[in-house]
Amino acid sequence: MRGMPVIMDVVCFLWMLPSVWAVEEVLMDSTTATAELGWTTFPSQGWEEVSGYDEHMNTIRTYQVCNVFNNSQNNWIRTRFIQRRGAQRIHVQMKFSVRDCSSIPNIPGSCKETFNLYYYESDSDVASKAFPPWMENPWVKVDTIAADESFSQVELGGRIMKINSEVRSFGPVSRKGFYLAFQDYGACMSIIAVKVYYRKCPRVIQNGAVFPETLSGAESTSLVAARGVCVPNGEEVDVPIKLYCNGDGEWMVPIGRCMCKAGHEALENGTLCQACVSGFFKAAQGDEKCLQCPINSRTISDGATNCICRNGYYRADADPPRMPCTTVPSAPQRVISMVNETSVKLEWSPPLESGGREDVVYNIICKSCDSRRGSCTRCGDNVQFVPRQLGLTDTGVRISDLLAHTQYTFEIQAVNGVSDQSPYSPQYTSANITTNQAAPSAVSIIHQVSRTPNSITLSWSQPDQPNGVILDYELQYYEKNLAEFNSSLIRSQTNTAVIQALKPGTIYVFQVRARTVAGFGSFSGKMYFQTITMEEYNSSIQEKLPLIIGSSAAGVVFIIAMTVVIIVCRRRSSDRPESEYSDKLQHYTSGHISPGVKIYIDPFTYEDPNEAVREFAKEIDISCVKIEQVIGAGEFGEVCSGNLRQPGKREMLVAIKTLKAGYTERQRRDFLSEASIMGQFDHPNIIHLEGVVTKSSPVMIITEFMENGSLDSFLRQNDGQFTVIQLVGMLRGIAAGMKYLCEMNYVHRDLAARNILVNSNLVCKVSDFGLSRFLEDDTSDPTYTSSLGGKIPIRWTAPEAIQYRKFTSSSDCWSYGIVMWEVMSYGERPYWDMSNQDVINAIEQDYRLPAPMDCPSALHQLMLDCWQKDRNNRPKFSQTVSTLDKMIRNPNTLKTTTPLSSCVHLPLLDRSTPDFTSLSTVDEWLEAIKMGQYKENFANEGFSSFDVVSQMTMEDIVRIGVTLAGHQKKILNSIQAMRAQMNQITSVEV
Ligand code: AMP
Repeated sequence: MRGMPVIMDVVCFLWMLPSVWAVEEVLMDSTTATAELGWTTFPSQGWEEVSGYDEHMNTIRTYQVCNVFNNSQNNWIRTRFIQRRGAQRIHVQMKFSVRDCSSIPNIPGSCKETFNLYYYESDSDVASKAFPPWMENPWVKVDTIAADESFSQVELGGRIMKINSEVRSFGPVSRKGFYLAFQDYGACMSIIAVKVYYRKCPRVIQNGAVFPETLSGAESTSLVAARGVCVPNGEEVDVPIKLYCNGDGEWMVPIGRCMCKAGHEALENGTLCQACVSGFFKAAQGDEKCLQCPINSRTISDGATNCICRNGYYRADADPPRMPCTTVPSAPQRVISMVNETSVKLEWSPPLESGGREDVVYNIICKSCDSRRGSCTRCGDNVQFVPRQLGLTDTGVRISDLLAHTQYTFEIQAVNGVSDQSPYSPQYTSANITTNQAAPSAVSIIHQVSRTPNSITLSWSQPDQPNGVILDYELQYYEKNLAEFNSSLIRSQTNTAVIQALKPGTIYVFQVRARTVAGFGSFSGKMYFQTITMEEYNSSIQEKLPLIIGSSAAGVVFIIAMTVVIIVCRRRSSDRPESEYSDKLQHYTSGHISPGVKIYIDPFTYEDPNEAVREFAKEIDISCVKIEQVIGAGEFGEVCSGNLRQPGKREMLVAIKTLKAGYTERQRRDFLSEASIMGQFDHPNIIHLEGVVTKSSPVMIITEFMENGSLDSFLRQNDGQFTVIQLVGMLRGIAAGMKYLCEMNYVHRDLAARNILVNSNLVCKVSDFGLSRFLEDDTSDPTYTSSLGGKIPIRWTAPEAIQYRKFTSSSDCWSYGIVMWEVMSYGERPYWDMSNQDVINAIEQDYRLPAPMDCPSALHQLMLDCWQKDRNNRPKFSQTVSTLDKMIRNPNTLKTTTPLSSCVHLPLLDRSTPDFTSLSTVDEWLEAIKMGQYKENFANEGFSSFDVVSQMTMEDIVRIGVTLAGHQKKILNSIQAMRAQMNQITSVEV
């Protein structure tokens, strides 16, 4: 059925296209016979051979018969054997004259004006006087032939003969040759000439192809297909080119065509494809002529398919070959700068030379310069450019959020579509400016430190852009129920203030602003805090009373100590009224924090960080804690496991972090800051703080116990043992925890598998909220590299955080990508043994870690998304959670893995399989793939050379005693990689 349209096309062509005339190949021609024709007649008194003349009065040999007065005539005449010579259809042209019966006087009724034509096929010349018999069968009748014109008149000088010419055809013929026979049955006639021929389609060049001479088919309707061959430098277009030779030896139904290929044009009516001459080109196959090279380009040889650009000129990817080659623009002109405090407006004129293009745009490079040192550094990414920094189409930009009193150099580059092809950096014009003094930016958040019925103690963070030395802060406040014009103002030299003379149990609105020599910045958003009521105050005093008495009264230490235990444990079970209130009141934040969202408060913004510990962590009495065993070493002391038995609660397993003896006050503060942070979080994928022990020694932080310890060592111990879905489930948990932290406005800065803990249900929880690493300059741990203002885990950290300490949830996203890689490689060290500097360089050059072995492509893609250079392009944790959820719902999306060979575009970082050529023994190889525990198994079974190992099958691996599926798979994959490497070596050697 699918062939139907083609047939229709063929039919249409059949009638539409002119045919090419046939060639006739003559097999026999009676007129060329000089001697007797020697045809056989029967009976002897029938046909007779006579010499005569044709219409041009040439002598010819003819046969005639005229026994019209005798009835029952049956006169046969047979030609000699005629060779077929491959023909399938034979044409017979007969010239003959017939006497008009009515012109013969007294003629009997048996007079005829017709005769019959027959043929008989044979493989050799077998005919005799009696064979084939003179009768219709075995002869095959072709036709009864009548004269168009018979003759009758007799004129002066003799009869005027009317010569008829008829052509009859027959076929298929298949034997070596054939005879023709003419049967007369009562006519008065003569056969003047007989020509026997077949037809063939001649060799032609049509539609750009050469078709060989082709014999016509057996039937008048048959079409014999012939394949054409394109003329040199021609190419078939779409379909194979064909012509059909019909029964009359005419070419018809052309299908397909050839066109001159790129760099060649058609000449002499399409029978020739000639190469474009120098200075001309033709880009594609087709009928078009060669074109002259566009400006600034030339050819280097004949037959050019494109013209190459002259030196210093280029063609952009999207430029068509007909377009002139273009060059880079000159520098922008006449830059004008208008400084307004810490903003500047730059305007310029377009470059004198656009390079011949219309796609000139501008980039701004911002450098802040230190006039004393004479050095400039690139501006950080907090500087704002409107409409944008790169690809400006207009000749102006507004730059804001610069530092006050600072010198800046702005380079305005002109670039166009070919700038990136030029080996030189874009031409630019600079503008040097110095910003003015400016007011500080707004304070972003205020939080409550403590409160009484008549006072509230507040603290706030410094403005992001102080723009100079902050002289003091101004705090404006008023009762929420009263209008703003009733507000009071107080000044504070520090970022805290105690606001006194307030009414008990009343909500107040607070706003704060900073002041420098340039004046006041704008006020922060409004925040609402409430004083406590007298009742709340009295009940809290009641609670504290025994403690106060206890600590001051000597001599009754034992009894008091008992009381302390009871009271402390009681306070733990009932939350303090302040915490409850302050949490609720945080919800009234106005400004750029969305209402209703609880956000994380940095414990170091508290004047006394111990207050933050009291605010966010429950005090646990040491008598409720039972230490069992040491399980690890923390930064400040041992980490132990143990039991926590709190009154009214079930005993539970806990981890206990201790602060080693001899600590300084600062170490104590830093150690406990982790608890102040952890205590603000409440999420199933964040390690849960049970409380702290600060009132006895050693100081402790008590958290839920995570049976499987840290994720990195857990994975290393269980290499290859989890399903992909299990691994993705772990990653999902970590992403959900990070999403929560991100919503809390908390930036982790040290997300890594070593800082994820795993419980017995494989639930992963984000942990390690210690800030000390980032504050201190301690070089004892090589994972963390000291940098100005803290230490950075280079391999896990986003480039912008390494370069200019831009730590955001997007830099956490980068680290999350590294955690994904750690998980999928079962705890492999990111970037293996590369040095930190090599890692930084590789990342800068856009190299990224390849997919770990067997890692689904979709997961590696997610990692690559997390490692986008531009932090704004990295996925948000909410997106990552839903991407992972989708993968878990559709496990099929995790089936495709990155094949080993496709990692070659990242050669620097491709270490997913060790290069066995750098190893000398099978044992070394097993160590390298972390399967060293099977050394003996391999050796005992004789797998001790790479040649034998490379031939191992899964059965072999099982047989030698590798029982874990993950290990079997890992070994098999490594063997496959070994084989691939061996093949590579062999092919290189060949
Ligand atoms: P860190 O203070 O986070 O450096 O803890 C040191 C080590 O103690 C970790 O690597 C864990 O092996 C172990 N650890 C810490 N917290 C817990 C916990 N909650 N449950 C089980 N093990 C823990």
